[in-house]
Amino acid sequence: MFKIPVNFDYIVIGGGIAGLHIGALLSLHGKVIVLEKTNNIGGRAKVVEKDGFKLDFGAHPIRFGYKSDLGESLEEIGKPIEFIKPGKVLAFLDDGSITTYPSGGIIAVLKSKLVPFFKTLKLMIKIKKMAEEDFVALYDMSLEEWFNKENITPKIRKFLTMASATLQVNPFIERSSTGETLQNIRKFLDIGSVYYPRGGWGEIFSRFSEKIKENGEIRLKSEVSEIIVKEGKTTGVKIGDEIINGEKIISTIPVQQFFTILDEKLCDKDFVTRCQGLKCTAGISIDFCLSKPISDIDGGIMLENPLGFVFIPSNISPEVAPEGKSLMTFFTITNVEDIKDKNKSNEIYQHLRSAILRFFPEIENNLEFERPLFHDMIDGVEVNTEQHRLKRPGNEIKEISNLFITGDSVGGEGAGGDIGHTSVRNCYEIIIGK
Ligand SMILES: Cc1cc2nc3c(=O)[nH]c(=O)nc-3n(C[C@H](O)[C@H](O)[C@H](O)COP(=O)(O)OP(=O)(O)OC[C@H]3O[C@@H](n4cnc5c(N)ncnc54)[C@H](O)[C@@H]3O)c2cc1C
Repeated sequence: MFKIPVNFDYIVIGGGIAGLHIGALLSLHGKVIVLEKTNNIGGRAKVVEKDGFKLDFGAHPIRFGYKSDLGESLEEIGKPIEFIKPGKVLAFLDDGSITTYPSGGIIAVLKSKLVPFFKTLKLMIKIKKMAEEDFVALYDMSLEEWFNKENITPKIRKFLTMASATLQVNPFIERSSTGETLQNIRKFLDIGSVYYPRGGWGEIFSRFSEKIKENGEIRLKSEVSEIIVKEGKTTGVKIGDEIINGEKIISTIPVQQFFTILDEKLCDKDFVTRCQGLKCTAGISIDFCLSKPISDIDGGIMLENPLGFVFIPSNISPEVAPEGKSLMTFFTITNVEDIKDKNKSNEIYQHLRSAILRFFPEIENNLEFERPLFHDMIDGVEVNTEQHRLKRPGNEIKEISNLFITGDSVGGEGAGGDIGHTSVRNCYEIIIGK
């Protein structure tokens, strides 16, 4: 027996950051329900509290802080948070040395022994002067091809490979998109750094959740099994034997899984294949929860080998660890196939762990507990020559006028979370413009 359907203006499928973000924005215009299949909100950015430590899901800085699309939306719903700017970025090189990573302007380039000063400065000026169409012309070219074509020197190759790894979670130069990498670097040169939310990601989720609850609800343990479509329009969704009716439906689940809840016969075959085949990024993170701080570094740390990104969230926002204790988070990138292979992923994990302990041996003496995580999806889409911003699916479903998709595998700009946030803003503008 089906229960009596409930009506909403907007049904949002998925309670990750994209679902909560768009749900909060749409709650300014109508009644919203967010449906999340698990017991928690947050998806791939969910926060877990253990022994007083607030653990983000692996390293989770936010590019561009107040100037990001996420920052803009928090302002728009009247619930801003504080974004903290970390200190300078350090590069921990394989030869055991530590140097400034050339981000954040000329001084950092000058201080860095990773790159030659004049050549790097020249490259940065060149990138600053590039027009939109110059980036677009390089979207289909891999970094490797471009390095060879432009005779890029080994030191600058290393720097750009690290930039591709951190800015777009893609250290694989044979497929990383040159246009996207340079455009991401340009955005950094124009509007600056990564930031961290005071109090961690939980603060972002609380703000969005509060807003949604002012004009709607978030339902956990509510897995959508089907999007109902009649004559080119969706009318609602099914959750078990319950139907929820809605005027407009927005799916935020990774687009690779979208056709598990929508009959693929309703859409163009090429579109279905494209969504299902999108390659995501993958990686391994380790959180170390320590009885006391063992380093006062308050900026990012780049590891050369294995290529990775390190962060001490409690040095930036002390609220994420109990008083006098410390939280360190490390992260390395790998292929999805490596994560699925237990031996390979364990080998990469051990490599990461020993690289960390080589630079921070004091971790072992002060360890309360550690949390390794093996992620088969970091960002919904790897930014590469086959999946750059012009080649990804857009927010609208051509055949179904009131059904939309968003999240970090749809449209958008930048990489990872940026794709998610810009994709949400684009989707929101389309929906309220209709
Ligand atoms: C370790 C790690 C580090 C990262 N670091 C950064 C970073 O530093 N900066 C950055 O910007 N980004 C980072 N990211 C990426 C960022 O976390 C993701 O881009 C973002 O969380 C994706 O959000 P989403 O809402 O699009 O998708 P998801 O988080 O995947 O949310 C989708 C939600 O839908 C739910 N769902 C699925 N199917 C159904 C269904 N049938 N019915 C109902 N609900 C369903 C899922 O349970 C999930 O909660 C990182 C990711 C990881 C894993």
